[in-house]
Amino acid sequence: MKSYYVMTLFPEMIENASSFSITGRAIRDERISVKAFDIRDYTKDPHRHVDDAPYGGGAGMLMQVQPIHDCFLAILEHCGGIPRVLHLSPQGRCFDQRLAEELAEEEELVFLCGHYEGVDERALELLHTENISIGDYVLTGGELPALVMIDAISRLVSGVLNKEASHEIESFSNGLLEYPQYTRPEIYEGRRVPEILLSGDHKKVDCWRQRQSLLRTKERRPELYEAYIRSHPEEALNGAE
Ligand code: SAM
Repeated sequence: MKSYYVMTLFPEMIENASSFSITGRAIRDERISVKAFDIRDYTKDPHRHVDDAPYGGGAGMLMQVQPIHDCFLAILEHCGGIPRVLHLSPQGRCFDQRLAEELAEEEELVFLCGHYEGVDERALELLHTENISIGDYVLTGGELPALVMIDAISRLVSGVLNKEASHEIESFSNGLLEYPQYTRPEIYEGRRVPEILLSGDHKKVDCWRQRQSLLRTKERRPELYEAYIRSHPEEALNGAE
């Protein structure tokens, strides 16, 4: 079972959100465990404060080093090894499918969710964090990014998805976006499902889907298309498309 530990000021957010859908089932099936640790439980402050004003002045408050460090030491007692510690931060490396695949191989991961103006730098040094961003925008806290990452990572863990193969043909898995898909009914408001999908000819269906993936990627994500074509030049669409 893979173990994901989340250091947070809002443990209910993590516990509630991860209890639904595929992540929830993976937890119930004991493929993964998601445990939220409340950083506030580790503060030595009599008023349970976990933040203070930044040295040198400036707007906002910073999360203090001591509660984070002690919370991490408590997590380490549950770990079999030295886990990778991922600090959610808009200043980090951008999270993508490749990183999700890499992290899905790890037995244990620790997520550190920041709040306020962020975290005392010494906490990041002591925990040897890797900074990970989910995009170039600023959120209020690291909980939603941690949940995004846990969702993307855990669905790649063996046995979590019903059909083992289903993530292998999704967008990004081969460097292309997924082809368009259809389900019943065959005709809706005059719009027909492409004839080839009803043909029963799996080889033709595969060819059609690959071509649709190429077309869609070229149109929607030209930079991904260019990268794919560099390694698969024989699949380049000709200019007329
Ligand atoms: N002052 C920080 C800065 O400029 O880098 C931003 C702090 S932000 C308001 C509060 C917390 O939200 C961060 O510590 C981080 O944990 C989380 N966060 C915000 N945006 C994020 C993003 N794009 N990716 C990952 N985490 C993010």
